[in-house]
Amino acid sequence: MKILIVGAGGREHALAWKCAQSPKVSEVLVAPGNGGTATEPRVRNVNVAAEDISGLIALAKAERVGLSIIGPEGPLVAGVVDAFHAAGLRCFGPTRAAAQLEGSKAYTKEFLKRHGIPTAAYATFTRATFDANWVRAQRMPIVVKASGLAAGKGVLILESAEEAIAAAQAMFDGQFGASGDEVVIEEFLPGEEASFIVMAAFATSQDHKRLKDSDAGPNTGGMGAYSPAPVVDRAMHERIMREVIEPSIRGLAQDGTPYTGFLYAGIMVHPDGTPNVLEYNCRFGDPETQPIMMRLRSDLVELCEAALDKRLEGLHAEWDERAALGVVLAAEGYPDSVRKGDVIAGLDAAAKLPGKVFHAGTASEGGKVLTNGGRVLCAVGLGATVSAAQAQAYELVDAIAWQGMQCRRDIGYRAIARESAREKSCR
Ligand code: AMP
Repeated sequence: MKILIVGAGGREHALAWKCAQSPKVSEVLVAPGNGGTATEPRVRNVNVAAEDISGLIALAKAERVGLSIIGPEGPLVAGVVDAFHAAGLRCFGPTRAAAQLEGSKAYTKEFLKRHGIPTAAYATFTRATFDANWVRAQRMPIVVKASGLAAGKGVLILESAEEAIAAAQAMFDGQFGASGDEVVIEEFLPGEEASFIVMAAFATSQDHKRLKDSDAGPNTGGMGAYSPAPVVDRAMHERIMREVIEPSIRGLAQDGTPYTGFLYAGIMVHPDGTPNVLEYNCRFGDPETQPIMMRLRSDLVELCEAALDKRLEGLHAEWDERAALGVVLAAEGYPDSVRKGDVIAGLDAAAKLPGKVFHAGTASEGGKVLTNGGRVLCAVGLGATVSAAQAQAYELVDAIAWQGMQCRRDIGYRAIARESAREKSCR
């Protein structure tokens, strides 16, 4: 069977790599892919953009693709899955209606409230309904969010009411285009974050959003991630399934928008143990996909097919017990304007080391691999502990270089602090 992966990032490289290992799969097409998917065995890039829905359908038909998996949120929110289904093609991902969970934070907050799922207290405003005095009456800090898609940049945490009011006004004024027509303002939640990604019951992970070590610097798409997330122990896992995931899946079905696809819940575990939902994503995370795919032993294609055929119940995903940790290597200037076209050195040397380097913003040209985006590579290590996985990932990082390459040096620090605290208490 042929598989089509839609997207061009590190997530899509990891999904393509994983699908190519399935004995059911003859070839994996990636539209449009990157420099890493171009050289992966049994994987072929096809020059169709992720947003070109009719182009993707024509490609899937011409190549007789048996299953398509959609990586990024843009095409999902635009209804790519509905279009594939209408064309009689099998496609793994939520419909446009179900993808609203990511496409509209205002919708999601209302959904969470309606179904009794824990989340921060909030209010939703448009320019016409905005009430500055309501903001002044809230406790600080406070969180201001553009309701629509804003490439991870539409969330601001503000220390004063006047800053929050100004931030909301800037959103109404078009800072994020139509995505800021509605603004959600919510209570700031303390605690530790974890990502909880499910098909039926998938894996947990934690990511690092800030650019610099010790969680300083601007927010990014994610500078690294590891799996599993130690903050989600067995009891917390059960609690999240019971209080968040199960009522969400049930609620979606009750609302007439049943969900198929990866569902990613961003959770803030409050110091009192409450798993509050920060957001939903209607797709796999990037860079969370890369370490999670390294740990997945089961056949991903089989799991996607079972989900589409509603056979997931009773099926168990098998996991590598080891920890996986991914470090993102970003281009100079990221997350603002980045320089492209730098030659990446050391990929051959890294390929001989344990672990795996997934590509994101790369292009191959005349036998060379060049930088072609903000987040360029993700180096993933495996180990019996998070610190062993971290050591393996940084060996890969140290083999690679290009002008202006930047990365964090402390990915996994929270988990590693937990590990050393546990070691000390055992001694
Ligand atoms: P979101 O896109 O809604 O997940 O927000 C992006 C990031 O902002 C999250 O990963 C959190 O680190 C932070 N954040 C969002 N909402 C809150 C909140 N209510 N309290 C504290 N931090 C938040």
